Amino acid sequence: MQKLESKPVVEKIREQVLQKSDAFQKKYHRKPHLAVILVGDDPASHVYVRNKHVACEKVGFQSTNHQMPAITQEQELISHIQKLNQDSAVDAILIQLPLPSHINKERVLAHLDPHKDPDCLTEANLGKFFSGNSVVKPCTPWGVMRILEHYNISVTGKDVVVIGRSLIVGKPMACLLSDANATVTLCHSKTKNLAEKTNQADLVVVAAGKPRFFGKEYFNAKSVVIDVGIHGSGSGQGLCGDVKYDEVYPQVLAITPVPGGVGPMTISTLLENTMALAEARAQKLENKK
Ligand code: NAD
Repeated sequence: MQKLESKPVVEKIREQVLQKSDAFQKKYHRKPHLAVILVGDDPASHVYVRNKHVACEKVGFQSTNHQMPAITQEQELISHIQKLNQDSAVDAILIQLPLPSHINKERVLAHLDPHKDPDCLTEANLGKFFSGNSVVKPCTPWGVMRILEHYNISVTGKDVVVIGRSLIVGKPMACLLSDANATVTLCHSKTKNLAEKTNQADLVVVAAGKPRFFGKEYFNAKSVVIDVGIHGSGSGQGLCGDVKYDEVYPQVLAITPVPGGVGPMTISTLLENTMALAEARAQKLENKK
């Protein structure tokens, strides 16, 4: 049993982004700039946003905080996004999710300039991603691919099960794995005989959003398990994933832990995406001169 920790991958990506950011600053005499919008006072979101600012600082990015009160109206948020879309000093705009329930996420995202969308959330960027033609890739699934690459886990010709079909994790995950030549089965809450399918797979990516739901009956001694789930525990047990880690770890070939697995990768790939957007925009502006 191997523990697929993300720390070495995070450090490698940070070093790569830092080098690119230094080169960018030398060439364009400014830092890549990520604007982070946070609406409301969800404590977990505040922690995520703080972590993102710290990560930006470590790779030499400028990051600005756009805190808006919980009572912010949808149109006010859209106006703020439009202002940042127009701001030539901003390369990427991150809208921290979830938004308060009175704000419609889809309507808001429709106003985000896809050239400044580091999470690959806009329809335009998702369309480009699924066509194999995007500057940015969905952060969490791309982070999973970087872990597999780091640990030399090839998926070519392998049978892979992805549990969960959301637009931010499951679907793009299936697409990336298929592009990497895996044979992918995309499962969800209505899938029958799930344990039978996962037991036949070489690799299982679990993104169901169900804390400590998947036990050893879902896996075998040759399974590689990627646990995307992340749940804060109100019961004092700390963070946990979708997989019963303690029970599954001794029984499988390899598994990502929670914490310390997929979670930290999402910030690393966000930095990569922000860097890519800054480079693409600066290049475009230079070509116009
Ligand atoms: P979601 O709720 O949008 O989707 C969950 C999916 O799982 C659905 O497609 C549903 O059909 C499926 N599902 C639910 N119960 C199931 C079951 N018992 N068997 C099979 N399929 C089942 O969730 P999401 O946004 O895709 O997130 C999934 C998990 O990943 C959550 O725990 C979330 O917190 C975590 N997540 C982590 C990161 C990260 O940075 N590591 C980023 C995004 C999401």
